[in-house]
Amino acid sequence: MGISENVLQKYAELIVRIGANVQQGQVVQLTVAVEQHDFAALIMEECYKAGAKKVNVEWMFDRQNKLNYLYADQETLGRVLPWEEEKLKQMVQDLPVRIFIASEDPDAMNGVDPQKLSAVMQSRSAVIKPYRNAIDGKHQWCIAAYPSVKWAKKCFPSLSDEEAVNKLWDAILKTVRVEEENDPVAAWKAHTDFIEKKAAWLNAQGFSSLRYHSANGTDFTVDLIPDAKWEGAGAVNAVNGAFYIPNMPTEEIFTSPMAGKCEGTLVAVKPLSWNSQLIEDFAITFENGRAVSCHAAKGQELLERMIHMDEGAAMLGEVALVPKESPVNQCGFLFYETLFDENACCHVALGMGFKEVLPGGDDLTVAQAQEKGVNDSIIHVDFMVGADDLSIDGVRPDGTLVPVFRGGTWA
Ligand code: ZN
Repeated sequence: MGISENVLQKYAELIVRIGANVQQGQVVQLTVAVEQHDFAALIMEECYKAGAKKVNVEWMFDRQNKLNYLYADQETLGRVLPWEEEKLKQMVQDLPVRIFIASEDPDAMNGVDPQKLSAVMQSRSAVIKPYRNAIDGKHQWCIAAYPSVKWAKKCFPSLSDEEAVNKLWDAILKTVRVEEENDPVAAWKAHTDFIEKKAAWLNAQGFSSLRYHSANGTDFTVDLIPDAKWEGAGAVNAVNGAFYIPNMPTEEIFTSPMAGKCEGTLVAVKPLSWNSQLIEDFAITFENGRAVSCHAAKGQELLERMIHMDEGAAMLGEVALVPKESPVNQCGFLFYETLFDENACCHVALGMGFKEVLPGGDDLTVAQAQEKGVNDSIIHVDFMVGADDLSIDGVRPDGTLVPVFRGGTWA
């Protein structure tokens, strides 16, 4: 493959030291595909060098997952067994640093009944979610990517396996700012400083709502939660104060809007991949804060099912601002992976919001955060609305309009 050991090493270090920011004595849980065992070893070693007490690896294997879905029944798959729950309890106790290496084939679950997929997810989430909530804000985590052949071929079907993987590598490394000669740590410092400056500006404005307009039909207003913060790039583990970067790459500045308070239509500018299936050319119309209708040229039924996953699935949990100059957008292709695609341009997410955007949010229960307007759901699905001509105005509580975005980028 065309990627040098030097670059791989720099990338592994970046994920462990800057992304997850593993601290002395911490337990690490690494989730990675079996195909990526060499990179897993590299990450493990970096974690130990950073002082990790123990690195546990959770191996993923797309084909194993698919075979289970094809042959095992829904009830069996949907059940969380006692030993699995014990692992979750241990996680709440250890508060491990979690590192995820995304590399899966976007078509891995093709041929599996989507109804079964969402039913199993719904049933498992009901048990798993309280444990996830219990560690929220109290541990560091980082998702980064490693190209698999199948993923690369999905992005570049006309290239050979090797060419496709190399091309996806180039794109990934560009978006995570790793080059043969550069200092990625310094590059990330400059990048996170820029994002934090923009977030501070937004926070100082105290907007009560945002208005979106675009020639493609987007005409939308969303109310913000009065004292919720805009955040970006990094987060802080409330237990040990460690600064970490949950997503590599990351270009967005986001907040959770007031659940149930938005009106109008959002037109998607990129296809959405959900449960390994594509929803294309779609628009969603909101009334009284809820998605009341949707139209998709492809994947209509899937989109409707997504919106009806639970109470909160029809409401927004996130609004995020990303300028069109984003290196992900500059790559010019769809990654079929939210980690990248959501960093291409402005987006919103249906479903679960982020309680940490509220003052003292880490200490709130999900129900308390919900009372203040942060949406809750078992889903969190981002879709892109950042057209090249997108305008966004911030509305101050006194009604004054302040340009935030013009022509798809910062005004
Ligand atoms: Zn986002």
